[in-house]
Amino acid sequence: MDTAEELTILQNEVKSLRAELESLRIELKAGRSQVKLTMRGQCRCPACGHTTIVHSTEVWDGHIRGGKWALRQNGRVFDDRRGLVQAYVCMGCGLIEWYADTSTIDTNNDQFRVIEADRSGTGGPYRGG
Ligand SMILES: [Zn+2]
Repeated sequence: MDTAEELTILQNEVKSLRAELESLRIELKAGRSQVKLTMRGQCRCPACGHTTIVHSTEVWDGHIRGGKWALRQNGRVFDDRRGLVQAYVCMGCGLIEWYADTSTIDTNNDQFRVIEADRSGTGGPYRGG
């Protein structure tokens, strides 16, 4: 193989790699536009990019002794606490991300209104309610 042949092979390889790189750029751009950055999911603050995040599995409610933040659900005798709240706090800027334990939430309750995205393509972004 002479130098001219080697040069042609390398040029074709570079051309192929550039095409693959462009394809990956397009794929990355599309992926970034659909996935929102969360502190829980990526351990990176969406506001400032800091990567030191504190996860608090309980959020204290100062109004009740030993109380924890939760969603309130009306009960027959006593109100019930459902969906205990957890928080992710960015140590860079203080942004807080809240999450509730959805496994304990009873959606068949007047206290809560379930909102789902309309995937049919007609109407507004929500249905129900
Ligand atoms: Zn931050």
